[in-house]
Amino acid sequence: MTATTSAVLVAPETFELRDFPIPSIGENDGLLRMELSGICGSDVLHWGGHSAVGRNLPAILGHEIVGRIEQVGQNSAKRWGVAVGDRVIVEASFGCGLCDLCLRGSYQMCAQGQGYGGRISAGVTPHLWGAYGQHLYLPSRARLHRVGDAIPPEVGVVIGAVLANGVRWVQTIGGAGIGDTVVVFGPGPQGLAAVIAAHAAGAERIVIVGLSGDRARLGFARDCGATHTLSFDEHTLEAIADLTGGRLAHVVIDVTGSATSPAVAAEAVRPLGTFVMAGSTAAASVKLPWNELVRKEVRAHGVNSHDQPAVRAAIALAASRRYPLERMVTHRFSLGSARDALSLVRDAASSDGVIKAVIDPLDQGD
Ligand SMILES: [Zn+2]
Ligand SMILES: [Zn+2]
Repeated sequence: MTATTSAVLVAPETFELRDFPIPSIGENDGLLRMELSGICGSDVLHWGGHSAVGRNLPAILGHEIVGRIEQVGQNSAKRWGVAVGDRVIVEASFGCGLCDLCLRGSYQMCAQGQGYGGRISAGVTPHLWGAYGQHLYLPSRARLHRVGDAIPPEVGVVIGAVLANGVRWVQTIGGAGIGDTVVVFGPGPQGLAAVIAAHAAGAERIVIVGLSGDRARLGFARDCGATHTLSFDEHTLEAIADLTGGRLAHVVIDVTGSATSPAVAAEAVRPLGTFVMAGSTAAASVKLPWNELVRKEVRAHGVNSHDQPAVRAAIALAASRRYPLERMVTHRFSLGSARDALSLVRDAASSDGVIKAVIDPLDQGD
């Protein structure tokens, strides 16, 4: 094989299947044969032209990555601890290694935006900078984690940019711990990952808030460890107050992607608690009850990424088989159907039963 196919975003809402040459791999890089690429809610924003990715077109989206090593240089094999054929997950960011943020270890925040899924244009050699394709290029700084064949691709695809996000957002940044009350607004994949992370952290009360169309997703949240499910309406705050004897939550995380939900979610935090704001929205600004946050000395924290410690913890969680991660992938699409996949994810709120959609590059479509 000398060429590989990717679904390339060439203009807002427009994908084209394009062939690229298989890159020649040296001592310090590698090539991944994609098994599955998850569709993230942020991909919907990129696709619709509502993000900075628009400046990088043509671009290959996709930063939820699982695959097998197809080629690997001698040095990188040693450094990554992998061999040809190994199943690995790859972190969304690799960083430039040189900017201030990379040098302090926060490579996921790299000032040069070095990472997968639209942050580097497909015009930049060797082109394969996104997971919506048959292959992904692995530069020397790529962050790989070998997961072994015991973890199937359907689980591997949600470890990095889904479960590890939950771990970092709820445990590392949210500080959730034993006996805490954690409230999660939004039962999409990130909300479910937040529930799992809260449960694994030992939270006693885990409340998930969704809409009337979220019945199946809320049911799945219970299987992941949620102790209470609530519907989002004018009584939500009252219900959270009732559940907690008026004390509200230690940690509240909003992963709805809605511009209106954070105003309610932030009010559910108890004094000195933490509000974690994770949903990217297409709105120019989002309202928060600022005086309330100040009065209660609430710590408010924006989040959008995972890092190596969180991915390691997420792999351990997946390997423990304590949570039904294998049921998260509910919809599969071929590379040629990327548009259908993104439409489904965009409209997921109104179609219950959608949890995680993935692109399977081996599926030739019809
Ligand atoms: Zn994502
Ligand atoms: Zn950097």
